Amino acid sequence: MPRRSICLSVVVAALVLGGASRASANGAYSHVHITQLALAQLPPGELADLFADPEMVAAVEAGSMFPDSGYAASDPYGEIVHWEPFLHAYLEDLHARFAGDYSSREAKLRIAFMLGFAGHAFVDQVYDTTLLERAAEMGDREIPDLSYDQVADYFLTIDQGIRFTVDDPYAPYADLPAIIANGPDAHAVTEAVIRDGMSRMSSLTHVQSNPRLVQSWYLTAWEYGPFLGTHYYDARAVGSVPWMGGMLVDYWRVLAARAHETDVPSRDLLYRSVPADGATNWNVDLSDSHAWGRISLFFGYAVDRDALASAISLRGSDGVAVPTTLESAYGSVDCSLVHVVPSATLAYDTTYTLELAAGATTLFGEATDAPIAFSFRTRCAAERLSECPPLPDPLVVGPRPEHDAGVPRLDAGTPALDAGPHAATGGGGCSVSHGGVALGGVAHGTPASSVGFALGALVAFGGVRRRRARR
Ligand SMILES: [Zn+2]
Repeated sequence: MPRRSICLSVVVAALVLGGASRASANGAYSHVHITQLALAQLPPGELADLFADPEMVAAVEAGSMFPDSGYAASDPYGEIVHWEPFLHAYLEDLHARFAGDYSSREAKLRIAFMLGFAGHAFVDQVYDTTLLERAAEMGDREIPDLSYDQVADYFLTIDQGIRFTVDDPYAPYADLPAIIANGPDAHAVTEAVIRDGMSRMSSLTHVQSNPRLVQSWYLTAWEYGPFLGTHYYDARAVGSVPWMGGMLVDYWRVLAARAHETDVPSRDLLYRSVPADGATNWNVDLSDSHAWGRISLFFGYAVDRDALASAISLRGSDGVAVPTTLESAYGSVDCSLVHVVPSATLAYDTTYTLELAAGATTLFGEATDAPIAFSFRTRCAAERLSECPPLPDPLVVGPRPEHDAGVPRLDAGTPALDAGPHAATGGGGCSVSHGGVALGGVAHGTPASSVGFALGALVAFGGVRRRRARR
């Protein structure tokens, strides 16, 4: 019931929005679209066959909204389902329920849903510690009293022209409370609360997809986040929406193997790295960027970061070990993405090898039985650049798009959110009195009806959200 949810949200928005703080991680709309980009890149095989069915596409899209639905419902399950213990409990339920036979429609739906929520959780860790952190380094600022998540979604809605909604989202609603309760957090949540959270997320996609409703927030996003706006959809930028779409393809391969219990930790534990094996021109220190300068390890199973430290070694071509420290999103010890920080400046034009020793273990006890390693070469010193591979151009701000191009102007109509997935005009919906609104100190003369819907979007999402360390 999009209209009812949004109307309620508009009322609540006025009461709670003032307390909103900057959240991190992608917005709901971005999460769904990253999933869509991954679907478009699937190689032929089991997952491509699975997602030939539109019902399964809808299920993975719904799954990609699920973790944040808990924030929308103001229930702790949102944070809980972002982490590996929930994924582990979900996989155990899957194994017990279907005994490896995933040929039924119900089993396929549950696998699609899992790929959605697990991918979301991974994407949060990546985006927060790469592109979003890089944007802050480049001068992007927090937006006073607003969640950056939702306004960054509008780079997709308006700059990329991406339009979709997620209606009647699938989830294994009846069974999720037991899976959550059986996890290590033993949290009690009802099916009704989860349904409410998912309904709010569905409502949010109706707002986020409508350029007429979100234009003011979009302008605010560009005002405060010009670097993010420039590179949000730039595949060269680690942590951008298309970059993470490609990453998900690799992660889903591991998740599918885990569902089938055909996973091999020595193959699947480290499914991606930055720099990639064979990369050149890697930086010798973090002076250009902390966010993009660390060596990043993408794990197909969550790990205990500190327990893993002794298994990681970084050596130059002379075989001498370089000491390192490890970092992770939110400072969490339990994590799926680990950043390796060399404690010393690396040598120019030198091959380094990072190795994960045999016996590296995951959070739930899977262990590798062979070392995993990859190598990369550092860039050349300034005086030798002419003899070396050319350095890539640095990513800078701009050009900024022409904001008015292609964006329908708001007029006197009152949008009807529940008149169809893409309907933006006509009667119905909520209406509040007209007037201007001040955003970040800039007065935008937008009819308050649209602002009401945008406020509703923020509250439908929960308005205030902040990821935190697992432990
Ligand atoms: Zn999230």
